[in-house]
Amino acid sequence: MRKNIVAGNWKMNNDLAQTESLLTALKNQRTTSNAEVMVAPTYTNLFQAYQTLKMSNIEVVAQNMHFAENGAYTGEISASMLKSIGINTVILGHSERREYFNETDELLAKKVDAALAKGMRVIFCFGEELADRKSGNEETIVGNQIKNALFHLDAAAFQNIVLAYEPVWAIGTGETASPEQAQDMHAFIRKTLADKYGNDVADEVSILYGGSVKPANAEEIFSKPDVDGGLIGGAALNAEDFFAIVNAF
Ligand code: 13P
Repeated sequence: MRKNIVAGNWKMNNDLAQTESLLTALKNQRTTSNAEVMVAPTYTNLFQAYQTLKMSNIEVVAQNMHFAENGAYTGEISASMLKSIGINTVILGHSERREYFNETDELLAKKVDAALAKGMRVIFCFGEELADRKSGNEETIVGNQIKNALFHLDAAAFQNIVLAYEPVWAIGTGETASPEQAQDMHAFIRKTLADKYGNDVADEVSILYGGSVKPANAEEIFSKPDVDGGLIGGAALNAEDFFAIVNAF
């Protein structure tokens, strides 16, 4: 059975003191949820977050990494560096990385390979822009993002891949995809996987929804059969809101 996952992407928020207080608040939350819980602080606070949460049920994950093992890549971080501080999961392909840092499907394929080669788990993000949805091209765009970055992989690799559908028009806008829009796209994503790798692989891959998930809408979105969790931005910066979303499972 595929896992339910709720992951908080803190983006470029929280200095060390703010991170420490959010970590403390997170540690004090109680949950009966069956979902795996993850948080992704910024690089400078990853080590601190790992140390604070390592005895908890919350996994600390990274927001990005470089594809190279090491070398002359000023400002970048490798999979080995993340692993060396206890980080075993990385978010790749977030639309903000694609838009502001020109990350292409081709580059992302290299990052995915590098993470998997180190035994890391990847939360791979993709999603269409508003213009794509208005013109009815959302499935073509999403299908291509998945194929271009992931379809060189063998079926076994998908044991370490989590997919995150984040329609760009719903990120940070307060506008969510409707539960039906999310379900329709998630079903399309699973079918895309099944067509290439078969139902056994497709049924085991967790597909998260991201884009203005809040305590008030999480339960309805998560109730959809192909929605296996959420990637949470703004609402993940408040421990109570974040755990209200976790507890929607
Ligand atoms: P919001 O929840 O703030 O819309 O952000 C979603 C997101 O981009 C998570 O990666």
